[in-house]
Amino acid sequence: MSKNFLSELTGSFATPALENPTGVMMEAAYRDLGLDWRYINCEIQPNDLANAVLGAKAMNWCGFNCSIPHKVSVISHLDDLGESARIIGAVNTVVNRDGKLIGENTDGRGFVESVKSSLELTKKRVVLFGAGGAARAVAVELALAGVAHITIVNRNQERGEELSKLVADNTSAGAEYHAWTKQYQIPADTDLVINVTSIGLYPNVDAELDIDTDSIKSSMVVADGIFNPPETRLIQTAKTKGCTTVNGLGMLVQQGAIAFEYWTGKTPSIEVMKTALSDALDITDL
Ligand code: NDP
Repeated sequence: MSKNFLSELTGSFATPALENPTGVMMEAAYRDLGLDWRYINCEIQPNDLANAVLGAKAMNWCGFNCSIPHKVSVISHLDDLGESARIIGAVNTVVNRDGKLIGENTDGRGFVESVKSSLELTKKRVVLFGAGGAARAVAVELALAGVAHITIVNRNQERGEELSKLVADNTSAGAEYHAWTKQYQIPADTDLVINVTSIGLYPNVDAELDIDTDSIKSSMVVADGIFNPPETRLIQTAKTKGCTTVNGLGMLVQQGAIAFEYWTGKTPSIEVMKTALSDALDITDL
């Protein structure tokens, strides 16, 4: 009887890679579907990215994730981009399609999936903090999902203005930039508040967004892209105000699930991925 000992390979290129738990949830989902697939978490320095991509191609990897700091720089090493990655201008998932490396972006769709059970997004008004790679992905996908308007609040004016123009030029949602020079008052008609900055990210867990907390109303859904820690200061404050909250673990699982589908063509079990992640991170309330 002929046996196949050749695993299909996927993985991640990033630095630092040490605390990236993605492989745990991906390999659990592969096992769950009986797939002989592996996910290899690689520490890749910027100067080594070109060789890492060539290596993945030479070894016939099915695909790989890119994280900080490679999401933009990887584009010059790819054969083509999917539609949302092209608009966003960043890639977090590379898919090997018949030997061609295609860049996709699943961060924003992952966020949209994670928030959908808490809020119907159509025609909603959004305040989004941040204008980096993840914020671009989240803003574009929220706009494509049908929100009415996004106010982008960011420290760096140029990046903030560029993102509001990106949304306005490429989608039917309205968008405006708001300078973050003093404590921000969230407009009372806001439906969804999202932090996609790195403020509050481990190890700076006590850092807080400069927001007037009195402007956070119980009618608002408050989400944080940060998953380490899952309970950021923003999420804690929003809970005390009676808001529905969404932490960054949902986005992490959902963006991974979409990448899984791109690579394998199969739908993974979200429950299996969540259980693997919560076991690995010692979290009980995922
Ligand atoms: P970037 O470095 O591209 O962007 C960082 C953003 O944070 C910028 O908008 C930057 O503002 C802002 N920022 C950082 N420090 C400060 C500060 N002290 N005061 C004000 N603004 C600040 O990072 P990413 O976009 O890749 O990641 C952003 C966050 O999203 C991270 O916390 C990351 O963990 C999270 N993320 C979560 C994912 C998930 O699956 N849950 C997936 C991807 C990211 P400025 O432009 O002014 O510099």
